[in-house]
Amino acid sequence: MFEQSILDKLSNRQTPFYYYDVGVLRSTCETLKSEASASGYKVHYAVKANANPRLLEIISSYGFGADCVSFNEIDCAMRAGFSPSEIVFAGVGKTDRDIEAALKSDIFCFNCESIPEIEVINSIASGTGKTASIALRINPNVSAHTHKYITTGIHENKFGINIWDLEEVMNRLKSLDNVRFRGIHFHIGSQITRMSVFRSLCSKINELQDWFASIDAELEIINLGGGLGIDYEDPEKPARFQNYFRLVNEYIRLRPGQRIHIEPGRSIVGQCGSLISRVLFVKKGSKTVFVIIDAGMTDLIRPALYNAHHMIENLTSTGDEHWYDVVGPVCESADTFATHIRLPETKRGDIIAIRSAGAYGESMASRYNMRDLPGSVFSDEI
Ligand SMILES: *Cc1c(COP(=O)(O)O)cnc(C)c1O
Repeated sequence: MFEQSILDKLSNRQTPFYYYDVGVLRSTCETLKSEASASGYKVHYAVKANANPRLLEIISSYGFGADCVSFNEIDCAMRAGFSPSEIVFAGVGKTDRDIEAALKSDIFCFNCESIPEIEVINSIASGTGKTASIALRINPNVSAHTHKYITTGIHENKFGINIWDLEEVMNRLKSLDNVRFRGIHFHIGSQITRMSVFRSLCSKINELQDWFASIDAELEIINLGGGLGIDYEDPEKPARFQNYFRLVNEYIRLRPGQRIHIEPGRSIVGQCGSLISRVLFVKKGSKTVFVIIDAGMTDLIRPALYNAHHMIENLTSTGDEHWYDVVGPVCESADTFATHIRLPETKRGDIIAIRSAGAYGESMASRYNMRDLPGSVFSDEI
């Protein structure tokens, strides 16, 4: 991935920054597009995974819609070329301001998580003379078998409408004139690598379909959300879209007129990005040798927040391998990218790549310690 010519160009730049391999992103989008159209699914890219405008432009050029969690994301998506009629708005705490702005933009659908939220959407819609399309985000109580901070579909989570409340929700909808019920939505977690999790979700959906049919409620949209994981051990490996589509097609029972929607985030952008950093100091600790780099948890928070593992490469050294801890400069002990890993002999000035960092990297960056936000560099612009 990092040929010498690219490396020369990267190492002259001010670090840290995100390097995006546009070829990887494009081939991921191609694969997803052909798999999705073969199965007839509608894809909405989950913008929160990475809202970099250049990446959004590339992703929108494949004809995907966007899944947004704030009006700022909706606005950003529209500027990047996503059509409002292909934008869905999710989130457990949508503000009145954001709801109103989304209605005025005529977005496709609101994925709703509670009766109070639906009532507010109805009232704002009636004030602006609109009818809002809505889908109900249901909490199916299916465990995603992933880190607890990114598990979102079990009963103790704040997300979605519990199944035992659905009857009340459906009754309430009858008296609301400015919302139109379009279907059901799920998103049970992220970085899901066990395919059996999606099988459990499909069987839960099949049961729910029977219930909706029993009350004569028509579902046009069955939205499975995102969640498909990537292989952080092997940054060259694309997400397993094919296995995912095959499994869903095998287990889900659609009824006439229904369409499956999906909202992949990580699986689209994860493998195209690397965080490029420079070694500031190599420091001997009491038990280990610290490689202190100029990227920190403010640039990539996943290791600190989720104990996440990213492959780390020293791009400039070819020396013998040693054991190191790779840490950032931020005043927090959680600012650690890896402990006890093998790297070639590392010294001040070496260039370090933290791989598989395209998703939930740049989009979660902060300015803690008043650090600058990381920049971004694209493979086709150097
Ligand atoms: C975060 C999120 C996604 C994307 O999840 P990935 O694991 O990145 O695919 C999709 N839908 C909703 C509602 C989300 O909150």
